Amino acid sequence: MQDPANASQGNAAGSERPRHAVVIGQGVVGCAVAIEAMRAGMRVTVVDPEPAGAEHAASYGNSGWLSSHSVLPPALPGAWRNVPVWLADPLGPLAVRWRHLPRALPWLLRYLASGWTEARVQRTADALRRLLRDAPSLHRQLAAEAGVPELIEQRGLLHVYRSRAEFESETLGWRVRSRAGVTWEEWDAATLRAREPDLNPRYTFAVFVAEAGSCRDPGAYVAALAKHVQWLGATVVRARAEGFRVEGGRLRAVRTQSGEIACDAAAICAGARSAALAASVGSPVPLESERGYHVQVAAATGGPRTSMMAADGKLIVHAMNGRLRAGGQVEIAGLAAPADWRRADILYAHLRTMFEGLPPTADAPGVQRWLGHRPSTPDGLPCIGPATATRDVVLAFGHGHVGLTGSARTGRWAAEWLSGRQPAEWTAAFGAERFR
Ligand SMILES: Cc1cc2nc3c(=O)[nH]c(=O)nc-3n(C[C@H](O)[C@H](O)[C@H](O)COP(=O)(O)OP(=O)(O)OC[C@H]3O[C@@H](n4cnc5c(N)ncnc54)[C@H](O)[C@@H]3O)c2cc1C
Repeated sequence: MQDPANASQGNAAGSERPRHAVVIGQGVVGCAVAIEAMRAGMRVTVVDPEPAGAEHAASYGNSGWLSSHSVLPPALPGAWRNVPVWLADPLGPLAVRWRHLPRALPWLLRYLASGWTEARVQRTADALRRLLRDAPSLHRQLAAEAGVPELIEQRGLLHVYRSRAEFESETLGWRVRSRAGVTWEEWDAATLRAREPDLNPRYTFAVFVAEAGSCRDPGAYVAALAKHVQWLGATVVRARAEGFRVEGGRLRAVRTQSGEIACDAAAICAGARSAALAASVGSPVPLESERGYHVQVAAATGGPRTSMMAADGKLIVHAMNGRLRAGGQVEIAGLAAPADWRRADILYAHLRTMFEGLPPTADAPGVQRWLGHRPSTPDGLPCIGPATATRDVVLAFGHGHVGLTGSARTGRWAAEWLSGRQPAEWTAAFGAERFR
């Protein structure tokens, strides 16, 4: 059978040949894993049927937050009370489509259970903090190496509230963050007004997290990382990975549409489409798409000075290289269901209440809408670590709402696992075995 990677790169002979790792997926996670695997001395082949940085991937259309403080799982204690609303209101900030409910139910039950008590939430937060703590500086390093330092900024992130009381209704979350080591400033109405003059004055309270960062253009960032991966010497194969050939517990090859790629190790970084590949190497992981939307306005005048999350609309507003993007919404409807653009319109309507001077509707010229698939586990923690059937295959997916942020540290951890070592900071909270 044709071996596209070996054909194009040749094969070093003898026992000194570097370990050959195949990275499946070229979203932000796959790019970071590929860079770190090359840095660790491996020969790398990246497999993805789609071009890097393009609209098909979650990594393209996210909100650009490098939020080292986003350590809460999506479900918090008492979330079960919202279940009737999730089912009844197809346009609420979180909605479950009835047709998808039978398939999603086991995932949803685990999702609720993982946030059942504050102690469970704290465990997740402490684990996530290990992964995210230094994300802004790791991304600054990656962006500088890839020749795009201007795409990553570390100027803090803002959460805006209509009142202090609204902030206090989220006390549990901020208490958990504080115990995990997050610090912040609280801004009163006058400070907020001085710092964010274009923001609607109905917002009178804000939390500023100085340690956090942001990306000015996630699609361009991923494209630059992918280019860097090739510059470092990796081979890119435009094909879909379909499975693995494992013999005697050792990985022999990754099977793709266009033939096998002989290799010593592989990383599954296929985002929301990773579950079947992981199950084929003994690691069934409950993975759902938490579908999210963005709406983007070209050449907007006015907007936030600091990227911000509005507590009332549960959306992030971010000025990106001359465009204004509002991202959010969670829709549980599977990977195949068509987009419900009314959800993007909701984001747009909310955005217009925050900043003046935007076109009247989301279908106006210069306004763009996008749907993407967050690769989400029910407990809000990604799977990073070896597969059950062979330690030669490493899982690196399931980053849900924090995949851009968490990709840099994931790259380092996954590269260590690909070299056969357990990373010092890793804990079993990231292992797929937790779902057994
Ligand atoms: C609206 C929205 C806002 C968000 N905001 C933020 C934010 O502000 N900050 C943050 O940190 N995160 C955010 N996220 C989450 C973040 O975007 C994702 O967690 C992250 O992009 C996941 O990256 P990934 O590389 O795992 O997956 P993807 O970017 O989806 O990439 C997966 C890649 O795998 C490829 N692939 C799939 N199947 C195969 C196969 N069989 N063989 C080979 N290749 C395959 C795909 O073609 C794709 O290129 C947001 C997400 C959404 C939807």
